[in-house]
Amino acid sequence: MRLTNRCYAVTGLGYSAPWCVNSGFIVGDRLTLVIDTGANTLAARTVHGYACAARPQNELRVVNTEKHFDHIGGNGFFRDLGIDVWGHAGIERTGGEFQAEIAEFNDAIQCAVRRNRGEARVFFSDTRVVNPNRRITEETRFELGGCTAEILLTPGHTATNISVWVPDERALYTGDCLISGYLPNLDAGGPAEWRVWLESLRRIESLEPAIAVAGHGPVMRGDGIQLAVDTVRKVLEQAIALGCSPTACVGNVGS
Ligand SMILES: [Zn+2]
Repeated sequence: MRLTNRCYAVTGLGYSAPWCVNSGFIVGDRLTLVIDTGANTLAARTVHGYACAARPQNELRVVNTEKHFDHIGGNGFFRDLGIDVWGHAGIERTGGEFQAEIAEFNDAIQCAVRRNRGEARVFFSDTRVVNPNRRITEETRFELGGCTAEILLTPGHTATNISVWVPDERALYTGDCLISGYLPNLDAGGPAEWRVWLESLRRIESLEPAIAVAGHGPVMRGDGIQLAVDTVRKVLEQAIALGCSPTACVGNVGS
């Protein structure tokens, strides 16, 4: 969907229902910056198709917002086309980790017949682990032609999380630093990481975005962004106080 003059979101890409994952892209006059590649090659083909259709003459560049497979699974498709993929220098995923992800997906299939067929492999057709080939170690900016995209380090959910800010359009892509509707996933860290996450939330809040695309859930606008920031902040503060994440802390569910 088109969000602003130059910013687009590709929402609802397949992941593990009811959790979908989002992608997006920013269209400059000469360069289109794709933000995240989905969980698999099938998603990457969709994102690539939309990004090319928006301005066919542009070169493409990709940036990953973090290391989890739902955001980088389509990297291989883009790299096979010779397109550079940027991402935090800490994104170093292995084939073994990816095989464990596939196994976890397969184990979650409720129907034994489908589980025994190994249908998770279909979801990951033609998908392999490809880490970013361009490493981000500090904040930077991409000049896309008539439009600038600022790469902000916003760690907390993982140490590798970045956000992409388009000041001219007041549009923000947050990856999983912010979440829309769902409970945030705190399980990749502990209280030290969650305090860092609170700092990152303050950072993105200070930008006062008009529109925000989170890693998961509906696109947010205006007051809805502040509501999401406040919700994630409350979950983090409760987790810090209790010393455990809401999904790991029995008895805290629904609080
Ligand atoms: Zn995610």
